[in-house]
Amino acid sequence: MKRGVVPGTFDPLTSGHLDIIERASAIFDEIVVGVALSPEKGGGPLFSIGERVSLVERSTAHCGNVSVRPFDTLLVNLAEDAGASVIVKGLRAVTDFEREFQMAALNWRLDSDIETMFIMAVPEYMYLSSSAVKEIARHGGSVRGLVPEHVAEALERKLNAAR
Ligand code: ADP
Repeated sequence: MKRGVVPGTFDPLTSGHLDIIERASAIFDEIVVGVALSPEKGGGPLFSIGERVSLVERSTAHCGNVSVRPFDTLLVNLAEDAGASVIVKGLRAVTDFEREFQMAALNWRLDSDIETMFIMAVPEYMYLSSSAVKEIARHGGSVRGLVPEHVAEALERKLNAAR
């Protein structure tokens, strides 16, 4: 049984994240998506941890071998707890590389039994990020196609509630 863990903040999940999770789920027997609490990221996440987990759950239900869990520990500890031997990450334009290379090296130093694997972003989503999606939505732009439909609706509700 090969299990992989796909970590992220997913504030919110984008079509780019989903593409990586779907491709990983076709390679591994089971995928555990780890949703990081990340209270410090970008002035605090827009969506609560519970909301982020349920948006990912709903978006990945069709895969059949994906489970989702929140975490607030070292990533290698999440992988160990989940019984996963591989960390799977999406890699976008060159800007991701240095940060990801550093994290992979540190994680290897923490637990060399856990391998980090990268899946290249498709060109269509290469420049897509959660922060870009939030920026577009905040300024009234359309995020259709950049996130799953129900994520776009949740984003609209969240931003309306904050106004
Ligand atoms: P973001 O960088 O959008 O805030 P996360 O911190 O949740 O997202 O990122 C988690 C992982 O998802 C990282 O490995 C990141 O490189 C990957 N990722 C994010 N957006 C994309 C995308 N558009 N295509 C492929 N991988 C992505």
